[in-house]
Amino acid sequence: MSSDSARSQPRIALGGILHETHTFMEQATTLAEFEAQSLHSGADMISAMRGSRSGIGGMIDRATALGWQLLPTLYAAAMPGGAVTAAAYGELLSELRARLEQSMPVDGVLLALHGAMVAEGELDAEGDIVAQVRALVGESVLIVVLLDMHGNISQRLVELADVLLAYDTNPHIDTYARGVEAAAIMARLLRRELRPTPAYARPALLLPAQSTGTETAPLAQVHKRAAEIKARDDVICIAVMAGFAYADTPFTGPSIIVTTNEQPELAAACADELSAILFEQRHHASPGYLAPAEAVKLAASHDRGPVILVDSADNIGGGTPGDGADALAAMLAHGVDEGTIVLADAEAVDICWRAGQAAEVTLTVGAKVDSWHGQPVTVSGKVHALSDGAFECEVPDNHFASFYGSTVHMGRSVWLRVAGVNLLLTERKTPPLDLAQLRHIGIIPETQRMIVVKSAVAYRAAYMPIASAAIEMDTAGLCSANLSRFPYRHIQRPVYPLD
Ligand SMILES: [Zn+2]
Repeated sequence: MSSDSARSQPRIALGGILHETHTFMEQATTLAEFEAQSLHSGADMISAMRGSRSGIGGMIDRATALGWQLLPTLYAAAMPGGAVTAAAYGELLSELRARLEQSMPVDGVLLALHGAMVAEGELDAEGDIVAQVRALVGESVLIVVLLDMHGNISQRLVELADVLLAYDTNPHIDTYARGVEAAAIMARLLRRELRPTPAYARPALLLPAQSTGTETAPLAQVHKRAAEIKARDDVICIAVMAGFAYADTPFTGPSIIVTTNEQPELAAACADELSAILFEQRHHASPGYLAPAEAVKLAASHDRGPVILVDSADNIGGGTPGDGADALAAMLAHGVDEGTIVLADAEAVDICWRAGQAAEVTLTVGAKVDSWHGQPVTVSGKVHALSDGAFECEVPDNHFASFYGSTVHMGRSVWLRVAGVNLLLTERKTPPLDLAQLRHIGIIPETQRMIVVKSAVAYRAAYMPIASAAIEMDTAGLCSANLSRFPYRHIQRPVYPLD
């Protein structure tokens, strides 16, 4: 009988630090951003995350059901943003290390990480976190890591962990189930039923976020074959990583990690096969899009509106400022009659409010937050209406309501009529998830020739029921599908579609 089973209950440490880092974003991510979302340590971590649908919530529930002694360390998660400051990263990691040291000895460590976190001075944050955990607990302690499938995975991380697994879905609806699975795999490792042998393969490919849905090409084909392979008894798990193209690191991009039970050759063959399937589907890596001027021209040629002009590069839900003005410039240049766009621009709102209702104003709008969202546009127009920017959602259980409640506050807002364009200026950025956003101030969405939406996918529920068509645009923005816009320094070249 082993020393483990002689002990009453396994001692399992739990923790997580999650951030999806957009390294081209100028504003760094500080500790305050983690405090605003989720930052818990010790016993507080269990009470805060138990019952949640997160990966760590699944781990806690399964571990509790198995009767393990849970040793919580730290759980920290922040919204996607720029590189995590060295100070914040150092503080989070030292808290995790200190709690883990107090918990020693442990039999295993369960970690929930993202995979695409970059800190100032550390391009491989997850590799570094697991290296520090490994150094503390030693070679014989089991480490199982759950990743977001948008992680960029280094060889070092694969070597340091015993098992890596990842969400299988995007949108991520299986985070909790994968957390449960991570704890279940840990249980089998503790019983010495498994001797994991992982293999890692990477195609020379980058996927923009717009191409990382798991129900569509190219990832759907990979998951279909992965499910067949996973049915084998000697395969423990398969992580199909889409990668996060906006984090510039030496291992950015999709990867496949196949973990078998003492079958290293099988693991390598399966990882290579799945990586090859993804590479064969690479023509799906670049979604089709038109330059804004062409998109506006095409929209104007439709006999029936509204045509939705998709500005997914300035996807507010992806963290962008919502002030990219490329599509506004294109509509004005074309002389569009009844085109609508919403821009977050508090300075412009203030000028219009001071001028007052019916005033004629000339001002510069858009592209003020950073240098990524095109050029500001100077416009002359009439202040058609002012509002406090509060509206009730027409669909009360829409996406807004699940985050913010059914009353949305955009801050003071202005309907500025510029030639034939309806420009809605708001103090706060607000994703296009409900038609009341336009209607509350008097803009009737159904009568527009074209409407610009700053969203990748989420706009569809509200806008597609009234739309005659949707056209993807190649606008400037930090979430652009056109990866040639980004000044990469660290990625491995050559890589499709850049080279
Ligand atoms: Zn993700």
